Amino acid sequence: MKRCLLLALVLPALLCIAWTTLTCSTAAAATASVRVHSTPSGAKVFVNGYLKGRTPCTARVSSATAHRKPYKITVILPGYEKWVGTVTLKASDAKTLEATLTRAAEETGESLKGRIVCIDPGHPSEASEGTTGPNGTTEVHINWVVAAKLKALLIADGAKVVLTKTSESQSVTNKQRALIANHAGASLMLRLHCDSGPIDGAATYYPDKQGHKDGVTGPSESIIAKCRAAAKAFHPAFAAALQGSITDRGIHGDSATLVGGKQGALTGSIYSKVPVLTIEMCVLSNAHDEAFIRRQAGQTQMAKALRAGVLAVLGR
Ligand SMILES: [Zn+2]
Repeated sequence: MKRCLLLALVLPALLCIAWTTLTCSTAAAATASVRVHSTPSGAKVFVNGYLKGRTPCTARVSSATAHRKPYKITVILPGYEKWVGTVTLKASDAKTLEATLTRAAEETGESLKGRIVCIDPGHPSEASEGTTGPNGTTEVHINWVVAAKLKALLIADGAKVVLTKTSESQSVTNKQRALIANHAGASLMLRLHCDSGPIDGAATYYPDKQGHKDGVTGPSESIIAKCRAAAKAFHPAFAAALQGSITDRGIHGDSATLVGGKQGALTGSIYSKVPVLTIEMCVLSNAHDEAFIRRQAGQTQMAKALRAGVLAVLGR
């Protein structure tokens, strides 16, 4: 009788614990949590291989400690490619992840078939954490979410896409970013950034002359010529697709930038052995530009505009 009573008390408690570790729920203050959204929604979310629920959901991570540790997030929806990302968490962290799912390979298009595009979501790097808008929107977040949306679009066009980062907060040096594109044999590398300053609008930068960094001179004259041609093809299509949502600031040489002015070219360009463009998608310190890019619709329009630019350079 006593044993039955004990089971009656303990069993519901055990079931309750199992339920909270396996399902999405509102996070308790002490544990870490990850809010996961996906496009489309309804995808299964796994944290380190454990099912936590379906998107959109908040996954509790009770194993987080005072020291930040990486957790593997996997998002799975039938008919779409598996999405894998990493998030670093310590106790009480509450982070958000957005997974833009891409259709499985057999449903992709042909216009970028055989092309390899390297997307570089700028920051954090050895140079900077990135800028922040007047309403708190961070450049590193915008670069990351637009990169994810652009990746999905380009894969749907048949391209192979390589990213220079596996999670939003990952820090990668500008040299390493260039080496990733070189190693991938990218047909084009797009470095995504948001500007700051007393201006507004979107601009395309390309290495207009060789630069010097740590004893290295680059890029080569032939890559400079390819970058110039790529910028001239990319920017008009990119600006047109923005449809006036963001002011068109035109095409500029790397040497017109602060770092490029000192080195001759941006660090990411100096080490590049593939055509590279740096896109300042907007000026985040400008309230109008920030209001545009912080909205999902603005981010989607930006990704579509970048895709239009890529198609103008590489499309068949
Ligand atoms: Zn930047």
